[in-house]
Amino acid sequence: MIPSKIQLLPTQLINQIAAGEVIERPSSIVKELIENSVDAHAKNIEIIIQDGGKSLIQIIDDGDGMDSEDLGMSFQRHATSKIRHQEELRNITSLGFRGEALPSIASVSHINARSSINGEEGNEISLKGGEVQYIRPAPSNTGTSIQIKNLFFNTPARRKFLKTTEIEKRNIYLVVRTYSLAYPKIGFTLTDAEKHVYKLRGNDLAGRISDIYGKKFGENLLPVTLTKDHFMVSGFTGNLNLVKKRMGEQFLFLNGRAIQNRLINSAVFGSYKSLLSRGEYPFFILNLQIPPDMVDVNVHPAKSEVRFKDEWRVFYVVKSAVTQALTDLLKTIPDYTPFNYYGADKSVTSDHGQLKLSPSIPGQFPAGFETAPHHRDQEKVLGNTSSVITESTIRKAHERIEALTKSSQVDDKIIPTDNLWQIQNKYILTEVNQGLIIIDQHVAHERILFESAKKALEGNGIPSQTVLFPQTIKFLPEEYSKFLGVIPYLHKIGFKMREFGVNTIIVEGVPSDIYSGSVEEIVHEILDKYIEKQEMNASFLDHMAATYACKAAIKAGDRLKQEEMKNLVDKLFATDHPYYCPHGRPIIVRLGIDELDKRFERI
Ligand code: ADP
Ligand code: MG
Repeated sequence: MIPSKIQLLPTQLINQIAAGEVIERPSSIVKELIENSVDAHAKNIEIIIQDGGKSLIQIIDDGDGMDSEDLGMSFQRHATSKIRHQEELRNITSLGFRGEALPSIASVSHINARSSINGEEGNEISLKGGEVQYIRPAPSNTGTSIQIKNLFFNTPARRKFLKTTEIEKRNIYLVVRTYSLAYPKIGFTLTDAEKHVYKLRGNDLAGRISDIYGKKFGENLLPVTLTKDHFMVSGFTGNLNLVKKRMGEQFLFLNGRAIQNRLINSAVFGSYKSLLSRGEYPFFILNLQIPPDMVDVNVHPAKSEVRFKDEWRVFYVVKSAVTQALTDLLKTIPDYTPFNYYGADKSVTSDHGQLKLSPSIPGQFPAGFETAPHHRDQEKVLGNTSSVITESTIRKAHERIEALTKSSQVDDKIIPTDNLWQIQNKYILTEVNQGLIIIDQHVAHERILFESAKKALEGNGIPSQTVLFPQTIKFLPEEYSKFLGVIPYLHKIGFKMREFGVNTIIVEGVPSDIYSGSVEEIVHEILDKYIEKQEMNASFLDHMAATYACKAAIKAGDRLKQEEMKNLVDKLFATDHPYYCPHGRPIIVRLGIDELDKRFERI
């Protein structure tokens, strides 16, 4: 018989291959072992390293410990005590669950581990390159101690990839600092080459921050705390004294797991608005608590990347939480309102009578950044592959920020004048102190309607305006049953309607801001979107607001009265994001006086 060409790899080789993903460098081992100690309910974790972890990493904890059988099992691949069934994968509450770390580490090093439960006699296991040398009873304190030597002794290529001791050391310090901030109640000690780097007793988070960064630092923290639906954000964000010129001290924990997420980072940066200049980074430590089934942590073996079911919802919650924490600071921004329209007061009253902060400042995260998922090209991928959106959205946002900071450095002020002109029934032209601005009337109105609809959907709704001639709309039976689910949301935007005979509704009130578009058209468009999505979630509400805004807005070609133009411009600058429409198109084009001077060759 011809031997089959395809053969199963030996276990040892499988483990080494896996080790390539789980343990890139000494700091990844420290991370995995700390996670195991946390999962084992340790109250104290001691970390000892030599040569940046290259010659020694030892972690000692006072956690649950293992008996002799478990100690042997723990180094076998896919052996875990943390999940048993597939359903549990959707509800992970421990840091580990893949059963990969110990066998992977063991396959590329020499290990000696001891463990004991409840002060009973312990056991010791020794492995070289994944091969068990012995397992025998040995004295041990309650808990587990794992010692790793000769890292990558059997994979010289990997060993060569290690960085200098100095760099590996720094990575390990960062891992220990990160986990000590994620778990302030646990005591952490880090000893490097016999010197104490950290000696931290259990504390609350503020105390832990002071213990690590110093008392002065601790005095510059603003507490962040917000609970919304099933999401909870807590932690601290630094005031302006803690702003740094480089990235580094920003920590994001999701259900106790340290994660990296650019979108959430930018939610935080964006909250600081003009308080930060480009290239400045605030300090923050945020703990997000999200129901485990709303996030997938099983994206990569290192588990620092996660996938949210609804990333934009998380974005908004984090943004509100941090903005709330910064409220007092934001109030102190001198001239927070870039456009002092008609000499208006700094705070502008929005159309629903609530007092609003002024529009955000150009050069920070513009509207397109938050609303880009409504962009037509991106609609297809919404909902499932949010990372695709994130990537391109962030790139686009950055390009816009570039463009905006270049073009709007000047502190624009609209001169108190009634000078407003409509051009081609499409654009509104008006003067600012450093030049002139041209506003696209359709997208401007779209932005206004979008924001008011979104706020209405998230809050209590807006009052509607009773119509003189109530109108009936008839649906197909299969549409009708679906439509009933949408009615409460349309109510919030301002459409007052009720059932009226078979498969028919009657519209008795419409939003007061509606300009064009027949009610029937708007209602059908929203219903179509809903039928397509089949789901009423946050991203659908965004779509709904955007669809409504697009249909109900003033169109290109609509002739506007002076009063209407004034009203539109006023309201535009009272929105959070006057510069970009919900689809990401620009609303305002600015022509600076210096640009004009240049064109006329005055300078
Ligand atoms: P995972 O953490 O994904 O389960 P690991 O390979 O990291 O996989 O660990 C395997 C198992 O060994 C864990 O499920 C746990 O039962 C046990 N274990 C590892 N480290 C410790 C520890 N410090 N204390 C107690 N048990 C531990
Ligand atoms: Mg583990």
